[in-house]
Amino acid sequence: MTRVAVLTSGGDAPGMNAAIRAIAKVGAGRGIEVLGVEGGYTGLIGGRFRSLTRMAGERLLPERAVDLALGEGGTILGSSRSDAFLTEEGRAAAGAALEGTAGLVVIGGDGSLRGAHALATETGVRVVGVPASIDNDVGCTSLAIGVDTALNTIVEACSKISDTARAHRRAFVVEVMGRQSGYLAMASAVTAGADAVLFREQGRVATVIVDSVEQVIRQSFDGDSGKRRVLIIKAEGVELAATDLVDSLNERLRDLDGVEARAIVLGHLVRGGSPSYLDRMIGGRLGLMALYTLAEGGGDEMVAWRSPLEGGVATLDSRVQRFPLERVAAESEALLDGSSPVMQRRMQMMETVEGVLAL
Ligand code: ADP
Repeated sequence: MTRVAVLTSGGDAPGMNAAIRAIAKVGAGRGIEVLGVEGGYTGLIGGRFRSLTRMAGERLLPERAVDLALGEGGTILGSSRSDAFLTEEGRAAAGAALEGTAGLVVIGGDGSLRGAHALATETGVRVVGVPASIDNDVGCTSLAIGVDTALNTIVEACSKISDTARAHRRAFVVEVMGRQSGYLAMASAVTAGADAVLFREQGRVATVIVDSVEQVIRQSFDGDSGKRRVLIIKAEGVELAATDLVDSLNERLRDLDGVEARAIVLGHLVRGGSPSYLDRMIGGRLGLMALYTLAEGGGDEMVAWRSPLEGGVATLDSRVQRFPLERVAAESEALLDGSSPVMQRRMQMMETVEGVLAL
C-alpha cells in the first residue's frame, strides 16, 4: 500500500483532527503517502486532494499543519453535505477520483458512513469508516469522536448558568444539540445537576412537557426543598421550542413571587472547541486502526470503540474492533427508532434517573 486518502464529512466533531493526524503520522512512518480530501464528498467528486505527507530527502514526514491541528476543534480538511454524492453518478465520480489510491478513510457520522458503504459496494473502492458525531448516534460503537468534548462543554455551560440562576432564583431551560438523538441531553442531565431532562425519544406532547416542568419548578421553589435554581436540559429534537416552553411556564408561575424562567440555546457552541483528552485519544486510536485495516486489505467496514473482549473482529488495539458498514447502518437505524437494546437500556436508565433528578 503506497497511497491512501482521508476525508471528513457531515457534522464536524472535535477530535476529527486527531484522527487525521494519526493517519498522516502513522502513514508517513510506514512510507504511505496520505492524501487529504478537502470538503468531504463534494471535494472528493471534484478531485480536491492535498497531500498530508511530504518527502524530506529520503524520508516521508507528516505535514506540520496536520501535526499542529491536534488540539483544534472542527476539521482542517473541511466538511460538507453533498447532494451530488447521494446519486449513483456522484458516487461513481467519487470512486473514479480515488484511482491510484489503495483506499479511503471516511471520518463522519451516520449519514457519511452510509455513503461510505454505498461507495464501497458500488465502486469496489476499499473504504473504512471512523465514527465521529457529537450525537453518539452511530451503531456498533460505544462512543463516537466528539461526544466527550460536547458533553464537557454542556456541563461547563450549565455550571455557569447555574451560578447566575442561583443569584436570582431562576429556572433555566438549556437546549442542547440533538435533532434526532437525545443522547447529549440524557448523558449530561446527571453530571450537569439538572432537575429535569427532555428529549425526543420520550415522545411527550407539549402540554405534558409544560405540566411536568411546571411541577418540577413548583416543587423546587415552593416549600422546603431549599433550591435556588432549577435547570431543565432539553434536546433540540423536542418539538416544543425552548422559548415557547419558557413563555408558557412564566404565564403559569405568576403566583410564585420573584420566580422567573429563562431559555438559552447552546446551539453550535456545543460542536466547537479544543478536543478533550478522551476525544484526542479515541480519535487517534480509531484513525490508526482505520489505516491498519486498509493496510490489511479490509474495506466496507468501520472501526468502533468498544469494551475489550466484546463481539467484533479484533484489531491490534484492545478497544478498537472492526464491523461491516452494513451492520453499522442497521444498528444506527435501530438506535433511531428505539428498537436497539442499547437504546432501550438507555431509556430504562433515564426513567430510573428521572424520578430523582428533581429531588
Ligand atoms: P453525518 O455524517 O454527520 O450524519 P449527513 O447525514 O449530513 O451527516 O451525511 C453527510 C453526507 O453523507 C451527505 O451530505 C451525503 O452526501 C452523504 N450521505 C448521507 N446519507 C447517505 C446515503 N444513504 N447514501 C449515500 N450518501 C449518503
